[in-house]
Amino acid sequence: MFLSLKSIELQGFKSFGRKTELVFGSSISSIVGPNGSGKSNVAEGFRFVLGEQSMKSLRSKRGEDLIWGGSPSLPRMNRAGVKVVFDNSKRLLDIDFKEVTVERVVHRDGQNEYLLNGTQVRLKDVIRLLAGANIGGSGYQIISQGEADRILNASPKERREMVEDALGLKLFQHKKAEGERKLDETAVNVDKTKSLRREIAPHLNFLRVQVEKIEKARELKDDLAAKLHDYLARENAWITQENARLGQELDEYESEVRTIENKLRDTHSKKGATREGSIAEHQAKLKSTETALAGVRRRREDVARELGRAEGALEANNVTVEQIVAVPHVREFAHAVDETLANAQSVDDISDLKRILSDIRGRIKAFVEGLSGNAPVTSEEARRHVERLCATLTEAEREEARLASALESIQSDIARTREESFTAERESVELQSRLREMQSKMTSVRIARENVATQKTRFQDEVREGVALIGSAIQGWDKGEIPQGALSEDRSLQEKRRRDIERLKIKIEESGLGNGDAVVKEFRQTKERDEFLGKELMDLEASAISLKNIIAELEETIDERFHEGLKSINEALGGFFNKLFGGGHAKLAVEKPRRKAQTAFDEAGPNGDDEESDFEEEEEIYAGLSIDVSLPRKKIRGLEVLSGGERALTSIALIFSMTQVNPPPFLILDETDAALDEANSKRYADMIQELGAKSQLIVITHNRATMAAAGELYGVTMSQDGVSKLLSVKLEEAERVAK
Ligand code: ATP
Repeated sequence: MFLSLKSIELQGFKSFGRKTELVFGSSISSIVGPNGSGKSNVAEGFRFVLGEQSMKSLRSKRGEDLIWGGSPSLPRMNRAGVKVVFDNSKRLLDIDFKEVTVERVVHRDGQNEYLLNGTQVRLKDVIRLLAGANIGGSGYQIISQGEADRILNASPKERREMVEDALGLKLFQHKKAEGERKLDETAVNVDKTKSLRREIAPHLNFLRVQVEKIEKARELKDDLAAKLHDYLARENAWITQENARLGQELDEYESEVRTIENKLRDTHSKKGATREGSIAEHQAKLKSTETALAGVRRRREDVARELGRAEGALEANNVTVEQIVAVPHVREFAHAVDETLANAQSVDDISDLKRILSDIRGRIKAFVEGLSGNAPVTSEEARRHVERLCATLTEAEREEARLASALESIQSDIARTREESFTAERESVELQSRLREMQSKMTSVRIARENVATQKTRFQDEVREGVALIGSAIQGWDKGEIPQGALSEDRSLQEKRRRDIERLKIKIEESGLGNGDAVVKEFRQTKERDEFLGKELMDLEASAISLKNIIAELEETIDERFHEGLKSINEALGGFFNKLFGGGHAKLAVEKPRRKAQTAFDEAGPNGDDEESDFEEEEEIYAGLSIDVSLPRKKIRGLEVLSGGERALTSIALIFSMTQVNPPPFLILDETDAALDEANSKRYADMIQELGAKSQLIVITHNRATMAAAGELYGVTMSQDGVSKLLSVKLEEAERVAK
């Protein structure tokens, strides 16, 4: 038969103060020896090397207790080591070596070391590797002395664990436990992640609101930039145009004013000349001419009257002049008047003329008054007088005509001069009115220019304000084309735009968030963190689901295998029970699932001992395993009524049936047959042989029948030095050695 367990080597372990090796050459090896020689220490050596953590199971309190304590002949050691060698040519262990050595060392300070083919590994690596080969676990494959009915004494829950272990479900249990641990960790991480998200949520919301505001403000700023571009371009175009237009208008008005002023100056000088010179001169001339004309007229009338009289006298009386007036006197008179008139002709001064005329009148008056009535006139005289009078009349009429014409000319001169003066006056008035009009227009233009200048100042302020508010986004308003209608539209439209812009500026200022880059950056980082956490949460939840699925699958596998295995165990149990008791039956039954307080104890007490310490209460639904036993020919049923031997037989049947289903590579039975009578010992030995066909057995016994079933025997002795020694013995010697 193929033996997976090749050897065990104990060095410094308990009573094995010296290095001792057991090499297994048979499927059933029996260890015999007197009480206290160290047989059980070998079984414990197996427990120890396979990773047993319970000091109680190793019959110790501390790790130190496992180390050779020394004797007078052999000093104590500082380390205890046990080494087992497996033949791994059939890949019993999932490791790529033909032979696998598992070694455990404990030091006096309680430190443990685990080595796999000489390389230090962790305990859990050893446990996992062995569990894969159905070795280790609850230790049902090593039945310690007096522990044969452990499975009977165990609680239904513990019993179930032992069965599960025997069925090789340990690996799945490990996986499940690991899955549950991971699930717990995941749940913790989910909580942590959720709480982190909860922590950042208010800040994130706050930032989101801020960023929304900032974005709104940015939109407002973009809007403002667009509106400002349009507005400023229009305003600039308008101001430029207005300045040019008003400048040109002003130039035109100024030049017109200059023209008007020149004309006015001309008109004034013309008007002045007319007024100062001509009119007065003409008036004086008019007056003297009128006087002269009146004088001439009177003289002409006098002369005409005189002539009429003279002609009448001439016709009637035919008297001579001498008859009327002394001729010399008339001559003298006429001569004097003529002379005076001749003088008057050369006089320009009107007052001189007036004086002359009054002189003439005085002479005429004196002459007339000097005449002494109707003096007779001779016909000749009368005729000459008529002739003279005719000549004088003609002269007077000529003079009158000349003076009348002169008067007319003066009057026409005066009229013309007046007309000229009026015209000049009218022109002057017109020019002044025009001048005033121009000046008023210029004032309007100047006011308009001032207004444009004010608007230009405002425009520059608006550009500055724009820069302060939207920075470089303001640039470019002067780069594009002049917006349509900028130069022709109604100013009220631009005013409306300005009000719009003011409203926008107020809105932006009210938002009061500056450019908000830092807030946006923080929002982005916080959001990324939140998204990262969200993703992590999703991953965690997904992994929780997959872990739950894995656990559920494992539970299903465990459950399936458990029920199938249980069925097989019960079948085998029936057979073994029948064989041992010659009838009756025994059965493992799954209890009703119940909610019960699980009792657990902490194996790692403060002193490293495994005294029962704090009890933990854990609520769980658990269906344990009960044993239903009925012995042949006995009416009473149940474990409680069995004798010590019956209990031993029942537990042996149970242990053996458990090993049948999922045979472990080896099984160590430490005096499991101690309580059996001879007949049962024989049956036990038969069963050992039956088992030996499936598993490698190491049986510690005092029983001859059992020894006889073994293929090889090892004797353990202890001499005076307290050191256990091992020797290979024959069956004949064995009994002796065993005593
Ligand atoms: P039995 O047939 O009575 O069951 P046994 O052969 O199984 O006996 P063990 O229980 O294996 O005997 O051995 C017990 C012996 O080992 C005791 O004599 C005990 O003093 C000894 N022993 C236990 N631990 C140590 C130790 N650390 N150092 C030295 N000797 C030890």
